Amino acid sequence: MSYVDEVLELVKKKNSNEPEFIQAVTEVFESLKPVIEANEELYKREAILERITEPERQLKFRVPWVDDKGQVRVNTGYRVQFNSAIGPYKGGIRLHPSVNIGIIKFLGFEQIFKNSLTSLPIGGGKGGSDFDPKGKSDREIMAFCQSFMTELCKYIGADTDVPAGDIGTGAREIGYMFGQYKRIRGLYEGVLTGKGLSYGGSLARTEATGYGLLYFTDEMLKSNGIDIKGKTVAVSGAGNVAIYAIQKAQQLGANVVTCSDSTGWIYDPEGIDVALLKEVKEVKRARLTEYAAARKSAVYHDKAAEGTNQWTIKCDIALPCATQNELNIDDAKTLVANGVIAVAEGANMPTTIEATKYFQENGVLFAPGKASNAGGVATSALEMSQNSERLSWSFDEVDAKLKSIMVNIFHNADNAAKKYGMAGNYVAGANIAGFEKVVDAMLAQGVC
Ligand code: NDP
Repeated sequence: MSYVDEVLELVKKKNSNEPEFIQAVTEVFESLKPVIEANEELYKREAILERITEPERQLKFRVPWVDDKGQVRVNTGYRVQFNSAIGPYKGGIRLHPSVNIGIIKFLGFEQIFKNSLTSLPIGGGKGGSDFDPKGKSDREIMAFCQSFMTELCKYIGADTDVPAGDIGTGAREIGYMFGQYKRIRGLYEGVLTGKGLSYGGSLARTEATGYGLLYFTDEMLKSNGIDIKGKTVAVSGAGNVAIYAIQKAQQLGANVVTCSDSTGWIYDPEGIDVALLKEVKEVKRARLTEYAAARKSAVYHDKAAEGTNQWTIKCDIALPCATQNELNIDDAKTLVANGVIAVAEGANMPTTIEATKYFQENGVLFAPGKASNAGGVATSALEMSQNSERLSWSFDEVDAKLKSIMVNIFHNADNAAKKYGMAGNYVAGANIAGFEKVVDAMLAQGVC
């Protein structure tokens, strides 16, 4: 058995009740085979694969808080500090009832390679809780965030671990967490990113993941001789990533006709109205039925009642921007049959391994999330730089840096794939480019 297969077996055995983590490791290891085989003796002696799949530290803690009726509630909090070979741990905080240690580990593992790809000095980490922010009052959100940070603040810091937003954690939650950190630790430092502009946030951080996804997609299309202008785009999700992906796609001349949330999806052939979508999702925090009610050209589809999703719509480009495993093999077959030319992941691991292979085998350009959604964390690292310098850069300055980082990530992944004889396989390219730098740093730092 090869070294890769040996360690993959070990990971499956040790983490048997963590399917998402196993899926992420399998996808990375399969595409890294040529690199690992070329260095098998060294990597095996140094136990590189065993070390890279074992978090440096994982924290699990109680998060008690009081709801509006005076009832004490208890959630579980997590922080996985996965790999600090190239910098302080960096990665978001997910607040969603589906969160468990396996989900946080898969996200933290992906984050190691994503952060490496940005070429900025940040290691990989991720955190979260099974807390469900839906339907909670502002006071309840604050109570939860303060309790979560009361424990987490012992383990993070501007030079050790810098969390950010993710599903369920936006500017409001980051604000409450920052306030609590400052209060307990007595430090005014860049310990979180995605902060409000009045207290150390960076311009363009809100837009960064969605905009970055489009900068990457545009570069991938261009390098394959395709113009994004006039293309029909299907997007899933209606959160932070989806909204700004839709906005940038429209600015680049594409027509975005769908978006979705966990209960339904919108088909709007005249193009999604971003201002209305923001009003419904960012201001009212309401469901997409309100979008459909306010716009004549839009049709709302209930997922449970109809058993359909946005991938049934004919499109040239598909951008999954909601959550993991939301695009499966059946969706991939429908998209390919409808003539899709490119799929770029805004979410983390939204495409199953089977669906990814199907796209690649059918000549669809496929951008993996760890490369195409790296704009968020890259801009978070730019926020860290501004905090250290006590400076704020202009929107255009940050946006220009973001664009150049995304274009570089595309070419690094493209070149790495070509170097190992897998031209056009951006999944392999991204994994290889991210992995090589982390391993180099791990080897240089000895057994740790
Ligand atoms: P938000 O919470 O802002 O939005 C998430 C969106 O996805 C919502 O529309 C939500 O619908 C939908 N969604 C969540 N869970 C499910 C589910 N189980 N099934 C169907 N739809 C679901 O999160 P973000 O936009 O920040 O994150 C989206 C994805 O992008 C995640 O995978 C995240 O890890 C990834 N990502 C985010 C980055 C960032 O900077 N924010 C950076 C890089 C990656 P509903 O409101 O109904 O729950």
